[in-house]
Amino acid sequence: MTTHPQRRQTLAEAFEARFGTPPELWCRAPGRVDLMGSHTDYNLGAVLTLPIGRDTWIAASPNHTRSVRLHSLNLHTDASFDLDTADRNADQPWINYIHGVAEELKAEGLPLVGFDGVIHSTVPLSSGLSSSAALECAAATVFEALGGWHLEPLQKALLCQRAENRFVGVNCGILDQFTSTMGQDGCALLLDCRDLSGQPVAIAHGLSIVICDTRSKRELAGTEYGERRAQCEAGARLLGASALREVTPEQFAAREHELPAMVAKRCRFIIGEHARVYALATALANGDREAIRQLTAASFDGACHLYEIAAPAMHSMMAAMLAAPGVIGARQAGAGFGGCMIALVESASVDDFAAAVRTHYAAATGTEPEIYPVTAAAGAGLI
Ligand code: ADP
Ligand code: MG
Repeated sequence: MTTHPQRRQTLAEAFEARFGTPPELWCRAPGRVDLMGSHTDYNLGAVLTLPIGRDTWIAASPNHTRSVRLHSLNLHTDASFDLDTADRNADQPWINYIHGVAEELKAEGLPLVGFDGVIHSTVPLSSGLSSSAALECAAATVFEALGGWHLEPLQKALLCQRAENRFVGVNCGILDQFTSTMGQDGCALLLDCRDLSGQPVAIAHGLSIVICDTRSKRELAGTEYGERRAQCEAGARLLGASALREVTPEQFAAREHELPAMVAKRCRFIIGEHARVYALATALANGDREAIRQLTAASFDGACHLYEIAAPAMHSMMAAMLAAPGVIGARQAGAGFGGCMIALVESASVDDFAAAVRTHYAAATGTEPEIYPVTAAAGAGLI
């Protein structure tokens, strides 16, 4: 990965090469990894989430027109849109994430300024670390800085979520955008998706979080995500609750037999996962290794057998992580179906852990994984 000054220079050069002047403004927004939860968000439950040092930068200058012209250094592509139209771009779908943000800002009555921009992200795209929310939140921050108005972090998160729901057409919950705007340097966040409150959670000294990217691509807009969501909503309806979040484990145990078998499995996972979020927050703060091991194991077990979101690459990665030195616990991350996973690792063993996982996973799958520790980063803002 490039250093901060190198990255800045790369963006500045790309900007000047395209637009002829240096950029005037720099914004960033982080990706995220969920430590526990993820699918709990659209059930209005809790998620333990970590805004990470991998982030999306936009270098920008106002262009005194009504158009937004962008280049993505990740996709090596240019695209633009007009602030006064609402046409989706079918050929360059990535620009819809930014155009969608503009549409939501317009709907709030906020004045928008056209700009030129170059985008660069160190969040891997479509790997479960939420490059989409990082892009939306960085773009909203550019519009904010150029428009001369202010959005509270929660407002910005809700607006970017709506952009992804409505304009991009991905029915995501609030987790990704919330983490990207509300992050605090050095802390995990315990997010309550019902009242939209976020509490900082300290991670005990000596524990490190390591991302283990299976490098098997997933498609979030695919049918499975929507299907799981619909099954959860059906379960809540049959149990007479507005969301699964409202159902306690005791209530569920008493009425589980009333549900169709598939719906019952999905609900059992979500209700268990919601409880594990609070338990893991306590375990991380206290450095309780045994609890971390048990909670992450139960989460992965549920992902495999109840929610059925594990892909073959995830089983190979899980085996590699659990066999590596210094591992405390490991589980899936994000929506599942491949992408990234996480391990909690003794800080002193991170290098040995990473080397062992690489060797083991590559031997088992023929694919070189990406393994790297992450720390908590601040939410979206100016650089
Ligand atoms: P995730 O959010 O887990 O990375 P998504 O499928 O939700 O996966 O979002 C990935 C999509 O977001 C990409 O396919 C692309 O359209 C868009 N995107 C994210 N980051 C960038 C970037 N730096 N440049 C261009 N497009 C991006
Ligand atoms: Mg996404």
